Amino acid sequence: MKDTAYLALGSNLGQREVFLAQARHEIAQLKGTRILGETEVEETAPLGPVPQGPFLNQMIAIQTELSPRELLGEVQRIEANAGRIRDKRWGPRTLDIDIVLFERQSVSEPDLTVPHPELANRSFWLSELATLRGASVE
Ligand code: ATP
Ligand code: CA
Ligand code: CA
Repeated sequence: MKDTAYLALGSNLGQREVFLAQARHEIAQLKGTRILGETEVEETAPLGPVPQGPFLNQMIAIQTELSPRELLGEVQRIEANAGRIRDKRWGPRTLDIDIVLFERQSVSEPDLTVPHPELANRSFWLSELATLRGASVE
């Protein structure tokens, strides 16, 4: 089923702009997937208990025939390609790609929750989502 999905991209380690651009490039090449829209890249303070540098964040809207689970596998591969090392949760990272929302599908499993459980608590996600939906032609 083709659906519209929203992905949050973040980087706070190394060449942050380059990691975001590489992520967009790789996402655009996924099977049955195209990018519908992109917000501006914004700098945000890190969340959580670990001291670390500021993030560059961006949300993109895609149309995809991948299921939420297939998409999770692909974005984790793209994170690994960016040299992401999974050590401490919420620690600094070269690239983080979160699945924020699918328009027509939800998932509630131990390793995948869509919509993302933090959506309601992250005001910058809510405003990015409103920007992308407002600009959508569907
Ligand atoms: P947060 O999800 O609160 O922003 P985080 O991005 O730092 O925290 P990660 O270490 O990147 O967390 O991911 C931890 C796990 O979250 C992943 O291994 C993945 O299985 C799971 N996960 C559950 N729901 C989602 C989702 N909607 N998008 C991405 N990962 C998810
Ligand atoms: Ca995250
Ligand atoms: Ca993540």
